[in-house]
Amino acid sequence: MLVKPGAMLGLLGGGQLGRMFTKAAQRLGYQITVLDPTAESPAGRVADHFICADYADHHALLKLSTDCVAITTEFENIPAGSLKELAETCVVSPDAHGVSITQNRISEKKFLVENNFSVVPFAIIDSTDRRVKINYTDLLPGILKISQFGYDGKGQRHVSSEAELEVAINDLNREICVLERLMPLSCEISVIVARGSDGELTSFPVSENRHVNGILDISIVPARISGELAQQATDIATQVAEKLNYQGVLCVEFFVLEDGQLLINEIAPRPHNSGHYSIDACFTSQFEQQVRVLCGLPLGNTGMHSAAVMVNLLGDLWQQGEPDWSHVLKQPSTKLHLYGKLEARPDRKMGHFTVLGETTDMALSRAIEIKCHLKQHLET
Ligand code: ADP
Ligand code: MG
Repeated sequence: MLVKPGAMLGLLGGGQLGRMFTKAAQRLGYQITVLDPTAESPAGRVADHFICADYADHHALLKLSTDCVAITTEFENIPAGSLKELAETCVVSPDAHGVSITQNRISEKKFLVENNFSVVPFAIIDSTDRRVKINYTDLLPGILKISQFGYDGKGQRHVSSEAELEVAINDLNREICVLERLMPLSCEISVIVARGSDGELTSFPVSENRHVNGILDISIVPARISGELAQQATDIATQVAEKLNYQGVLCVEFFVLEDGQLLINEIAPRPHNSGHYSIDACFTSQFEQQVRVLCGLPLGNTGMHSAAVMVNLLGDLWQQGEPDWSHVLKQPSTKLHLYGKLEARPDRKMGHFTVLGETTDMALSRAIEIKCHLKQHLET
């Protein structure tokens, strides 16, 4: 269905991804109503309307569906029931099916295995089920991950023995978890794809991602991998979207093993941090593409006009108050994005900057210099 500019769009979730979506939608003439349970949210503060309510609040969902023509989400933990309820009267993308599979590590892994996608060796750990004593030694050293609501490495514990595993299970409140073998990685990459209501598919250039303590630190785009591997990753991400009959923007994160093998790490049913580079380096950003899919507009050109390196800015940088941005702002080809979060906490994503360059190596060396400069400032 074509939703024309001027219409009110709904957004479930008020984080930074929602803020960037809101700005992209407003640039195309749409209005936005954000629903989020916290009063001060990055997207809620820039939206045309804001509903402060729980994602399962029936009255709030009714208001959202009355006010809006089409609704999307920036957050994977929206209850499937809420998406179904909204879909009775509105266009909703992504739908409850895709979101409910990808919001839980167990259903996501089952979906991937059933459809013959390669994943890391894993086991489901349900400590309430004492019927079988499984031998986990094949998966050690490993990472224990809660099945839902984990993000930025939260809800994860590294374990190297059965004794440590037992401690970690208790530490994670004996929730149902997934234990994955810790893989030796050559690098990590991700691919963002967008699939329209007519099945039209576009993909963004492959991003090479470096994490620190389980949190994305830097994305380098295009990834410094062979063209063949990039094509393989793009094909897999496309197949994932097709198998889910997905409508919207989706990110597939991959592990690249030392022998070049690609394993799917996880799927996000939304735009992704590793795609922020697209705002400044692509003709169409991942957020504009989300607007286009939702509104039934032609999908945009995802090509890059420059190589790019994106660096996340975490709350740690705010230890002595607002950082001095003058060095970043003086750069000729760097864009600074701040999310307007009122409180800076360690590890909290507060913003990012993207350096454009003729080559990824040029952008990378500049990005590292800027990052060091920001940190140096903290130490003096
Ligand atoms: P999150 O939902 O927090 O992003 P991930 O499962 O993607 O959780 O884990 C965060 C990061 O931790 C990954 O990007 C990777 O760097 C590292 N990691 C996670 N699982 C594994 C694994 N099985 N082997 C090696 N590294 C891993
Ligand atoms: Mg991840």
